[in-house]
Amino acid sequence: MPALIRQELDILDPAVLEAVVAGQLRLSPAQALKIYHKLPLYELGRWADAACKRLHGEHIRTYVIDRNINYTNICTAKCTFCAFRRDGDEHDAYTLEYDELLTKVQELVDIGGTQILMQGGMNPDLPFEWYLDLLSTIKERFPQVHIHAFSPPEFIEFVRFFDPPGDSLELKLHWVMKQMQKAGLDSIPGGGGEIFADAVRIKIGLGKCDTTQWLTTMRVAHQLGMNTSATMMFGHIEGIADRIHHMDLCRTWQDKAINDFAADGGGRYKAFISWPFQKENTPLGRCKEWGQAEGDDLNQPFPGDVVAKLDGTGSKSAHPLFGKRVRMAGSTDYLRTQAISRLYLDNFYSIGSSWVTMGPSIGQLALTYGANDMGSVMMEENVVSAAGTTYCLDEPMICRLIRDCGFTPAQRNNQYNLLKVHVDNNSPDLCINDWSKLRKQKLHVETVDEQPEPVVITVNDRQLSS
Ligand code: SF4
Repeated sequence: MPALIRQELDILDPAVLEAVVAGQLRLSPAQALKIYHKLPLYELGRWADAACKRLHGEHIRTYVIDRNINYTNICTAKCTFCAFRRDGDEHDAYTLEYDELLTKVQELVDIGGTQILMQGGMNPDLPFEWYLDLLSTIKERFPQVHIHAFSPPEFIEFVRFFDPPGDSLELKLHWVMKQMQKAGLDSIPGGGGEIFADAVRIKIGLGKCDTTQWLTTMRVAHQLGMNTSATMMFGHIEGIADRIHHMDLCRTWQDKAINDFAADGGGRYKAFISWPFQKENTPLGRCKEWGQAEGDDLNQPFPGDVVAKLDGTGSKSAHPLFGKRVRMAGSTDYLRTQAISRLYLDNFYSIGSSWVTMGPSIGQLALTYGANDMGSVMMEENVVSAAGTTYCLDEPMICRLIRDCGFTPAQRNNQYNLLKVHVDNNSPDLCINDWSKLRKQKLHVETVDEQPEPVVITVNDRQLSS
């Protein structure tokens, strides 16, 4: 049974927050908004850290070795925050051949990887059989590799492209997903969550699934026994209340998944990962930062905050500049938002740090602001790096970051089972004598014209290029 919400209690009372951390009370949306605004960052972090420690203990923090594979960048949608998508006739549009995909999986296996995260644009030229053959080919050759693939926007387009049997969206999704599950699909990533509130979503996610479709896709996955994750991309046109509303929908639908499917071996959301919008090379990134345009008055609230409502019903007509100004999130806003997610999502097992966008140091600090997991080592990333910011870490470095933060690093699998707890001198980080060869590497490209140098990671004397 979920803990009670006691809206009338003063959430700034430490005794009430103690009860939230202990799992005896749930934050209401208004209480979450209040602590976002009123608690000093350090205190908010301390409460989130306590909640994390209650769920995950004092000692171990995890990472997974997986590989992001973006099988195509051709996409029917035109999300304004996206620098990755291409039309099919653009010179750098691509769809990977099976051989290229299999080579990438082999490289992952060679460094002890356990999972692929495979997502792409929504490419209308790929038939359903292409996906089924891809899944079964990977699974036949690499039965040990967990296939975490195809986010809800892709599934909604599969329904549109392939017109599967069924009288409702749920039944159509069920048909598609079931075939893919049989072919080898293991779980569904939470991509395309962005911000759920309609006013924001309609502005930034042109041509992409709506919130009901996103949540319905995940519900069908849970019904079929697959776990999923949930994500949020913030720090653009949205208000803070929109972030809370987004978390509230995640918590509500997780309750439903647990209540309706858990007894029959159903799936659920395993993790929540949030990150700030990266603006380079994106149409949305050309919007002025709030306060930097003539006539902007920083004494007035940010347009997104005027529009946002905790129940998600905000209307764009509430402010003439809504959608025309962004409020980029820096490190402290990121940590604050992540800390709130740990306190709010009491039915989510894992909160992931987003070092990929925030950098290794803030990603490491995030482990003391409610995150229990560093996510994946990064062999390859194509989506947020197209928008300007991606960092690249190998296994020794990710272990070192966790250890330097006061925890024992442990490799996990997709189900968050621990595979290796690195306590002895054979640990990936403790074997390294010369860290000068293992610097944190940044894939960030500052200008549109320059091409990035290929990044080469060396693991156990084997060179991998991205
Ligand atoms: S974010 Fe995804 S769905 Fe949106 S345009 Fe980019 S590739 Fe397409």
